[in-house]
Amino acid sequence: MRTKWIWLLALCCLGFSASCGKDQATDQLATIKKIKVVTTVAPITSIVENVVGDKVEVVGIIPEGVNSHTFEPIPSDSKLLASADLIILNGLDLETPTLKLARANLKPGASIYTLGNKTVKETEYIYDFSFPKEQGHPNPHLWLNPEYAMRYATLVRDELAQVDPKNGTAYQENTAKFLKNLESLDQAIKDGSGTIPPQNKRLLTYHDSWPYFARRYGFQVIGAVQPSDFADPSPKEVARLIDQIRKEKVPAVFGSEVFPSPVLEQIAREGKSRYIDKLRDDELPGKPGDSRHSYVGMMVENITIMFEALGGSAEALKKVDTAPVVGAHADYRRKD
Ligand SMILES: [Zn+2]
Repeated sequence: MRTKWIWLLALCCLGFSASCGKDQATDQLATIKKIKVVTTVAPITSIVENVVGDKVEVVGIIPEGVNSHTFEPIPSDSKLLASADLIILNGLDLETPTLKLARANLKPGASIYTLGNKTVKETEYIYDFSFPKEQGHPNPHLWLNPEYAMRYATLVRDELAQVDPKNGTAYQENTAKFLKNLESLDQAIKDGSGTIPPQNKRLLTYHDSWPYFARRYGFQVIGAVQPSDFADPSPKEVARLIDQIRKEKVPAVFGSEVFPSPVLEQIAREGKSRYIDKLRDDELPGKPGDSRHSYVGMMVENITIMFEALGGSAEALKKVDTAPVVGAHADYRRKD
């Protein structure tokens, strides 16, 4: 009798540990099967993070805070690119060295997907001071227009559903939530921009990243200071800009965190305008895990700074939910 019980107990234990092992194996398989997406600038990494949540391993290859226009991947980045199932870039010639390295190292079955050229038609590309038509590279900063960020999100959702159909429903649900946040961001920008005196809706920035934003919300970009080679402008151009902001009484000019600019500071001082060096086009505020460390958080911060400096109110922006819709999961390759 006693032996029978011992046998029964032993069988139970065996069954238990076998089922435990099976669960572990299933978990491991799920981890192994997670696909890997490599992105480029942090706002795109954030958009992808919102769409995929924890279903995909996401790595942004351009470390946050690094100048994306001159970023050159290092040789060891080829390993990262070779491990990707999908590489998502802005395109419009923003990440040419990364695109080259990605093509050279693409693993069999993997693909490269560019967003910019699928978001707007060529006739909608903007060429301007820093991105002159004769050089053939359009201004690539589409994502600073939230309408285009919505398009980026739906493109990413549809592409991921093709590459990784088992998680298609999750991508649909996450994107639906994310689009709601983007719509409320868009509405808040429209509301806030209505509070700025019309004659102040002029942008002079150091880095030329706002023309697509300006087109949507009725701002006029009166100039950008940084020439197409990302050096400083000529003394003649500096004098012209000082003249213009004095004449047009532009209340503030905007520098960017990634591009400190003594020359813009000088233009502001001599033009009797305020110099604000806090705009960002591809570095997210805070740190991964913070609710504002997101594309939406970056926009809310930018617009708040900009609207208040131009004599408007940023009150409407306070209601916008900035946190990634399914939490923080992406690797932004931050140095700190
Ligand atoms: Zn830029």
